Amino acid sequence: MTAHSTVGGPALAQRRQLVTEIPGPASRELLDRRQRSVARGLSHVLPVFVTAAGGGVVIDADGNSLIDLGSGIAVTSVGNSAELVVTRVTEQVASFTHTCFMVAPYEGYVQVCEELNRLTPGSHDKRSALFNSGAEAVENAVKIARHATGRQAVVVFDHAYHGRTNLTMALTAKNMPYKDGFGPFAGEVYRVPMAYPFRWPGGAAECTAERALDVITGLIHAQVGENRVAAVLIEPILGEGGFIVPPDGFLPGLAQYCRDNGIVFIADEIQSGFCRTGDWFACDHEGVVPDLITTAKGIAGGLPLAGVTGRAEIMDSVHPGGLGGTFGGNPVACAAALGSIETMTKEDLPAAARRIGEIMLPRLRMLAERNPVIGDLRGRGAMIAIELVKPGTTEPDAAAAGKVAKACHAAGVIVLTCGTYGNVLRFLPPLVMSAELLNEGLDVLEEAFANL
Ligand SMILES: *Cc1c(COP(=O)(O)O)cnc(C)c1O
Repeated sequence: MTAHSTVGGPALAQRRQLVTEIPGPASRELLDRRQRSVARGLSHVLPVFVTAAGGGVVIDADGNSLIDLGSGIAVTSVGNSAELVVTRVTEQVASFTHTCFMVAPYEGYVQVCEELNRLTPGSHDKRSALFNSGAEAVENAVKIARHATGRQAVVVFDHAYHGRTNLTMALTAKNMPYKDGFGPFAGEVYRVPMAYPFRWPGGAAECTAERALDVITGLIHAQVGENRVAAVLIEPILGEGGFIVPPDGFLPGLAQYCRDNGIVFIADEIQSGFCRTGDWFACDHEGVVPDLITTAKGIAGGLPLAGVTGRAEIMDSVHPGGLGGTFGGNPVACAAALGSIETMTKEDLPAAARRIGEIMLPRLRMLAERNPVIGDLRGRGAMIAIELVKPGTTEPDAAAAGKVAKACHAAGVIVLTCGTYGNVLRFLPPLVMSAELLNEGLDVLEEAFANL
């Protein structure tokens, strides 16, 4: 067996090839073991077990090679087992694996914070702190905002997704499957409407930044009180909620409103960040500078790492010992992040994300013209989605989205669904995917619609 066939990485042949049905016998046997050992509460999109992955393909236990249009939910933007991630992680694992940054620090943690401070929007003085997961980063951003302002209320949006811990369940909008039966939830969380053009009353043309901001700030004034609000928390492009892109001017207006009212503006860029949308961060598109920004998913090529980065005076309002965690900013995860960031820079992955968008958008636009079940096409860069509805209405058609996804999976293409109503197909290819492979994935998607 060659080294490449076991470690994955870009050396894997970049092609779709099915040698068994999906799932094949080896995956079915593992599924059976899984059913008897893993808790039922953990679901999966695709019933195949992975043995290797790299570039834009995932290899399963039966030797099938699938095209990956999901990146493990926007995580492996640099590809699986990217070369610089593997080298740095290997070196780090061989030298030391853990000391706990709060016990005895190491340079990798500081380097990742320096990179976060440099890369995130705004040239002001910044500080960062590292954690294990996106939810933990969001929890800490809220802790910091409350501490800095001495206020308690947090304003979040319809369709928002911020995680599955107790506070982040409260911040997340969707009940099933994320919240159902898991309460009571944390208090002082207030939800306002999202500027969601496709579902705005009266239609997308009515969904202007000004109108949406009027509704939102009016609600905050009437029901919460600006002076009680510690933070407004928003995903610049909503992720799990359906890749919702607010109208131009909405995010800058919201940021300005926060500045005017002493509210900490937190951008949750856990899904949209790290080159995904064609900029380093989705906020960059309109020059929005958040006070705090949360990052995770794409940051470390698949190793668990998350960050909170923000204005030095806000971050440093917290007393020593007030933030931390045993594993947060683990040295191996930091090494992976440094390898990922170096890859993103060297390979100019923001440009790669824009090129992916330039391939996907025209093809999906044509697909939407032929298929009235596609009610909306939206997104930016390599974060693109189509929303499926009963033709001519905005009534969600989750069944159609499920059928298309299933047909793609059976044909060896990994696609993910999302959205409050489960009727959105989202595309998050690794940014290193070749145009050829991406086009082949889109061929399969088109076929799935043709057979719908
Ligand atoms: C995935 C996600 C989270 C939660 O991250 P985990 O690492 O799963 O805890 C939070 N916010 C956004 C926008 C996300 O996409």
